[in-house]
Amino acid sequence: MEKFHPYNGVEWDDYEQHLTQLHTHEPRNTIRDDTCIHEPGIDAETIPIDALGKNNLSPASSPRTLLKKYRNIGYTVFSLTEHEYYVERSKYKDVSYEEMPERLDQTSWPWTKWGIDPAELGVITLSGTELRALHHGSLHDVIGLDTDIGHGQQASMTTLLDRIADQDGLAILPHPSKYNDASNYGQYVSVFEAADILLGLEIFNANDRYPSRALWDRLLMHFGPDRPIWAFAGDDYHGRARPRDGKRFNRSRNVLLLPTHSKDAVREALTEGQFYVQHNGDHHAPFIHSIDVTDEAISVDAPDAVGIEWIADGEVVATGETVLNDQLVDRTYVRAEVHGDGRAVSCTQPFYPI
Ligand SMILES: [Zn+2]
Repeated sequence: MEKFHPYNGVEWDDYEQHLTQLHTHEPRNTIRDDTCIHEPGIDAETIPIDALGKNNLSPASSPRTLLKKYRNIGYTVFSLTEHEYYVERSKYKDVSYEEMPERLDQTSWPWTKWGIDPAELGVITLSGTELRALHHGSLHDVIGLDTDIGHGQQASMTTLLDRIADQDGLAILPHPSKYNDASNYGQYVSVFEAADILLGLEIFNANDRYPSRALWDRLLMHFGPDRPIWAFAGDDYHGRARPRDGKRFNRSRNVLLLPTHSKDAVREALTEGQFYVQHNGDHHAPFIHSIDVTDEAISVDAPDAVGIEWIADGEVVATGETVLNDQLVDRTYVRAEVHGDGRAVSCTQPFYPI
């Protein structure tokens, strides 16, 4: 049985694994670049939050500190995806685009405005914005990457995706289950049909506040190998006080498999699905050392895993490091969830028997 999958061609011994964060915001409070914990560690329930999402505990750190904080914990691919309605520490969430188009078109790019050169830190950065688009009667977030589009202008999702495509940009749907559960997957069929540059959706966001694996499974079943949809994971970190269970820093990430540490290689990996995603939960997600695909089986090598589940068409069909062809009869796809302790998990992209 042949299998179509994104890891074909990955040289696991030669490629480097790059921690990649594609969903962050400008800090709302003071954070430190030399710690690997979420800050400020104050229970937000007891602190009033102002219109900027700040807790009035401290002035906000510069994005420069944010980048250093991520670099210090090991990230080497990064995007700051500030909301379209947040410009230079002012919030315009209920302001229509027409009222101040020039201001709202501004983005958090380039990083030189923060007095830092990501290349000197060994980080590939992509310009990015968390845009919004009208979809089924409400505004849905859409992350635009490698474009200078600063605002969705209250246009439809397909109109916004066309604009991003015209700039050769890339797009991801953040936290889709904020808007629809799995039974409503049909709401996303038309947008994935309309735009190839829409690469996929976040299956983990922040502390997994909007689990979207079931929604992803339904879309994988619907589209099959002709239109693969990649899983993404993002911290959605705002650098502000949150309750203890709302920690976001370094919780959800992508791990890119790159032959070279270059922007072209990053774009190629994102487009072709040559990455897997991790959610730390309360521990550390296990790294995947290699994936072996043969005509008979698929095996994952992850020495730190405490268990591996194989999910085909939304159901667990096998456990352990290998899934056999016999377990994939009449299935559209299979994917692996590689579990660690404390809800930590790494998820592969789909493999399609063809
Ligand atoms: Zn966000």
